[in-house]
Amino acid sequence: MKIENPNPIEWRFSERASQLQSSFIREILKITQRPEIISFAGGLPSPATFPVEHMKAAFDKVLSENGKVALQYGPTDGYPLLREWIANSLSTATCKILPEQVLMTSGSQQALDLLGKVLIDEGSRVLVETPSYLGALQAFSVYRPEFKSVATDEHGLVPSSIAAVAEGARLLYALPNFQNPTGRSLSIERRQELVETCARLGLPLIEDDPYGALSYKGEPFPKMLNMNPDGVIYMGSFSKVLTPGIRLGYVVAPLPLVRRLELAKQAADLHTAQLTQMVVYEVVKDGFLDQHIPTIRALYANQCQAMLDAVAEFFPEGVTWTKPEGGMFIWVTLPKHIDAMKLLDQAIAAKVAFVPGAPFYANEPETNTLRLSFVTVPPERIREGVAILGKLIAAQM
Ligand code: PMP
Repeated sequence: MKIENPNPIEWRFSERASQLQSSFIREILKITQRPEIISFAGGLPSPATFPVEHMKAAFDKVLSENGKVALQYGPTDGYPLLREWIANSLSTATCKILPEQVLMTSGSQQALDLLGKVLIDEGSRVLVETPSYLGALQAFSVYRPEFKSVATDEHGLVPSSIAAVAEGARLLYALPNFQNPTGRSLSIERRQELVETCARLGLPLIEDDPYGALSYKGEPFPKMLNMNPDGVIYMGSFSKVLTPGIRLGYVVAPLPLVRRLELAKQAADLHTAQLTQMVVYEVVKDGFLDQHIPTIRALYANQCQAMLDAVAEFFPEGVTWTKPEGGMFIWVTLPKHIDAMKLLDQAIAAKVAFVPGAPFYANEPETNTLRLSFVTVPPERIREGVAILGKLIAAQM
């Protein structure tokens, strides 16, 4: 029998919970998923790349051959064969990564939360790029750090600017490959300098790398992890090379840290689903990604070119943009007086969407910036959408 509530509960949220905010991107996605809108707003991979049949066959195989294990609870650190596969794929001739250094997570987004949990106290200094991945700012914010922005230029993060803000910092969070949101990549020299600078300062360096495999030229940059496995924490994901719906990522860290992360994960969710880890292992173990990833690169490279051609044709003088060599995004800088947030309202009225740049800044947002994703929109629609945006921008020049 249902009882009455003579004392209706007045919810008293923790201070932490009172600070939680929905990501701006998730909010605008609700609007932009309407079919009549040409949306450059999503950070979603193209569903055309999802290997549905392969996944289906792998689910079938795992369930019929090993169903009792796949459907049971599993170890917190993850499915051993998949961890070993990841460790091998990240090892080089001079840098061996051990399976014990790999912790499987529920998307690499969970790794950000776990890293925040074990490395950040209230007020801890955390260094981020200008701009940085919004989801990381959101994940770390829960632990109430003091964010300090590290300067970037057209080549990405500027290593020589770290020392000025590094005093007492707990970590530096970096996105070296086809950065979300700018699409920029760090040169090999900058990577080296960044790793050396952090090593000299005794500063843990997080290398978040969901897009590294999506280099259009097919030649991924060397990983900072391999330059200093004792000082770099590497985050990887199956979201952009397989499918995001399986929520499978991983973090690779020096052993003392990875054991802490494992304890934090145990408390959070015991472990990531065995079934999906076993299925992904089944899909990747014989080299499927070696054939699959080039098809994603080719699709994205084509659509990226369509967008670069369209912005060159339709955006007025005074507007600049990045020219990514991989990944999913380009970053546009408008003249200073144009507020991208206001432009978005006009764009949505004209049935085009993008993400304004301001939410990607931890401090001092540049309101004249915006992010365009080209991966889920076919080339002719890209041209149509960019033409509309170009007109709206030109009207404000
Ligand atoms: N890091 C970056 C830079 C991302 O862009 C994303 C997803 N958009 C993530 C981490 C999280 O990805 P996932 O949880 O799907 O692995």
